[in-house]
Amino acid sequence: MAQDYYQILGVDRNATEQEIKKAYRKKARELHPDHNPSEEAAEQFKSVTHAYEVLSNAEKRQNYDATGHEDGRRAGGFGGGGFGGFSDIFETFFGGGAGAGPASRARRGQDALIATHIDLEEAVFGTEKTIEVETAVRCERCDGSAMEPGTHPETCTTCRGAGQISRPVDSILGRMMTTETCPTCRGYGDVITDPCGQCSGQGRVRERVSFTVKIPAGVRDGTRIQLAGRGEAGVAGGPNGDLYLEIRVREHEVFTRQGDNLHATVTVPMTAAALGTEIKIDTFDGEQAFTVEPGTQTGYVVTLRNLGASRLQGSGRGDMKITLNVSTPTKLNDEQRELLTQLAELRAEDIANGQVESRGFFSRLKSGIDNMFSHDES
Ligand SMILES: [Zn+2]
Ligand SMILES: [Zn+2]
Repeated sequence: MAQDYYQILGVDRNATEQEIKKAYRKKARELHPDHNPSEEAAEQFKSVTHAYEVLSNAEKRQNYDATGHEDGRRAGGFGGGGFGGFSDIFETFFGGGAGAGPASRARRGQDALIATHIDLEEAVFGTEKTIEVETAVRCERCDGSAMEPGTHPETCTTCRGAGQISRPVDSILGRMMTTETCPTCRGYGDVITDPCGQCSGQGRVRERVSFTVKIPAGVRDGTRIQLAGRGEAGVAGGPNGDLYLEIRVREHEVFTRQGDNLHATVTVPMTAAALGTEIKIDTFDGEQAFTVEPGTQTGYVVTLRNLGASRLQGSGRGDMKITLNVSTPTKLNDEQRELLTQLAELRAEDIANGQVESRGFFSRLKSGIDNMFSHDES
């Protein structure tokens, strides 16, 4: 007794090719032995597959509608109509049992990487940047479907929607079935007959787009910010890729960054270093004053707490480290030379001490060499 193929697939008699295909895919998935290993499911799977086989083929469907049989005559069962048996169809759809059906055209868009340049101050406090990028965006005309609006793809007649074809191959082990991607539809199971004119059937078009990105405080030169879904639009409605924004921090003329600290070198005149003074420096937090103690030496580092870069991870800020560089005057006029000479005479003891220090240095060096030799002998 003839079965109602429409009923088996759960579609009505006016169902489109797409609806039939969708219904079949859904049922086939439910009944697939990976999900449902029962005997009953296997039988149902055969029925469903056969129903699809008939209804997805325009000619067979027409015959079936007219006569109740796909080949237009009363045949003795499923196997009669030049149909290679259910296991073939099964293989065709699930080649190797990996659950492969017709492939989807949709592919994820590519990730993209672009660089943006910011100032050190923007890196310290964070900023907002307007990014302009040429990329692929979803085609508005077809909304990514790659087809002219209102049209539908046609089920591939070569593979009957499976995306794969099986053919017998003679080998030393006997006749075997091999499964390969359908060359007509390239595995998609259907063919777009009317590609969208706007995007040439890609589902996406190239465009220049701009958007605003928040750049967090504390980013460093080379930091990459991942902007999910801001990459290229996918092919045929596939998801967007990601955009990676690489931060490039311009060099600052005063400050350099080491970790979360900002470093600067301030030159102090010899006299100010000897007498002590107060120095003012322009920072990203406005003018800051600090004290140079009398007798400060070159290389001394003043730390101004919490005036460094914001910490990208964690909270708070680094410090500002100011290295003092004591400058010795190079050009003296007569009066200055006279004053310095008087100072040197007044500080004769210190000059003598300096010589003692020198001797001390040489004696330390010598003992160091001695230690080295004695170490070798031991
Ligand atoms: Zn389009
Ligand atoms: Zn095909």
